[in-house]
Amino acid sequence: MGLLTKIFPTFWHYCKLCGLPSGNLICSTCFEELELLPESKCSLCKIPIINNSKICLNCENSHIYYDNLFCTFKYATPLNKILHDFKYKGNVVHSSLLGLLLYQNLATLAHITDYDLIIPTPLHKDKLKQRGFNQSDKILDYTRGMIKKLPINNKILIRCKNTDAQAQTKLADRNHNLTDAFKLTCNSRDISGLKILLVDDVVTTGATINCIAQLLKSNGAATVDACCLMRTV
Ligand SMILES: [Zn+2]
Ligand SMILES: [Zn+2]
Repeated sequence: MGLLTKIFPTFWHYCKLCGLPSGNLICSTCFEELELLPESKCSLCKIPIINNSKICLNCENSHIYYDNLFCTFKYATPLNKILHDFKYKGNVVHSSLLGLLLYQNLATLAHITDYDLIIPTPLHKDKLKQRGFNQSDKILDYTRGMIKKLPINNKILIRCKNTDAQAQTKLADRNHNLTDAFKLTCNSRDISGLKILLVDDVVTTGATINCIAQLLKSNGAATVDACCLMRTV
């Protein structure tokens, strides 16, 4: 530990999970303990599959509009707890850690600078008012800090239906629930031919990102990828 760190210790020099000194927001030991999604998973929605199929039954029987879903971590302890505290208890202390993980996810899985437009999945205005922030947008702050001038736009898409308790509903119901749930605030020509990246915190059924991808594609987007921090399994 350098002299400066001894005199002016900051949280940047302590692992946010175990509290031990670390060169980053998370130490290598804690990072290695985070649960990853298994190798054997659906190439579209990333749900673990036990047989050798490339895609799961749900994806085989649905129209998937997004091109790629990037997701590395399992929705499991401690990340799920951190995200929960962040979203529902307003504990924003961990947003930088989640942001770092998202950034690493993006840096390893996609060429983030190739995208013409990056959209954090919007919240309904009532939920935004209640929570005070959009978690996907907040998590993207770290990426904003690392790469300047990223084409992040949190105004171009709005959520006009407050579809609550989505996690418990079945995929079919969810797709139904989400019909017309999102709306563009721009003209089709503004997104026509663009390579778009959607960012979300958790993917459960994939219905939300699929619904947004359908809307963006029907308005002329060339490709729509999604990056989610964690996946429920
Ligand atoms: Zn640690
Ligand atoms: Zn699938």
